[in-house]
Amino acid sequence: MKIVLATSNLDKVKEIKEFLKGYEIYALSEVVKPFEIVEDGSTFQQNALIKSKAVFAKLKELGLEDEFVSLSDDSGISVDALGGEPGIYSARYFDLDENDKVCGKNANDANNRAKLISKLKALNLKSSPAHYTACIAISSKFGDYTTHGFMYGKAIDEERGTNGFGYDALFIPDGFTKTLGELDNETKLKISHRSKGLELANFALKSLKKNYK
Ligand code: IMP
Repeated sequence: MKIVLATSNLDKVKEIKEFLKGYEIYALSEVVKPFEIVEDGSTFQQNALIKSKAVFAKLKELGLEDEFVSLSDDSGISVDALGGEPGIYSARYFDLDENDKVCGKNANDANNRAKLISKLKALNLKSSPAHYTACIAISSKFGDYTTHGFMYGKAIDEERGTNGFGYDALFIPDGFTKTLGELDNETKLKISHRSKGLELANFALKSLKKNYK
């Protein structure tokens, strides 16, 4: 059984490959031609399933459903003081207007972080409790599976460190004094929302592996 990752986010690909060592894993671009997936769900789980199902449909079109499963990750950070923002809009936070409508395609990790910092500063806060969520979805010829993982901590009002991606330079996990931007990859791999979701997803993968040729 081979796994194709239903994501074009190279940082996620790297973390997923590191965690799921022992499986034959392919990046999306190695197996299917690029195509657009509209993530219009209202939860991490809905968006994760939209991605894994869309990629599995492509695998079917290519006659690869007996060989491959697809695996997606939909994830983000929720900041308590901001009412759970940016949540499912983490990747598109900079483009989100006051009415929670996505306008434009200019968001990137740097301007998303800058927006989060300015929102905390506007509330005169140096930090707020926050958590990351990851929903992992697997689509296969035997059906779809989802799991969730969480990492709790606090979001701070300044960038510290350059490791990781996304909001890592702003996030201090519970039990640590450094941000994920300052901690090494090995530590993140042990405690992250993505790793916890993947640990549970591994039960489904092991079972699927037995039933795939
Ligand atoms: P998605 O690709 O729609 O799931 O968006 C995920 C977004 O959430 C990323 O672009 C990051 O902004 C943020 N995110 C998710 N997981 C992490 C992480 O492990 N570190 C930092 N940011 C993350």
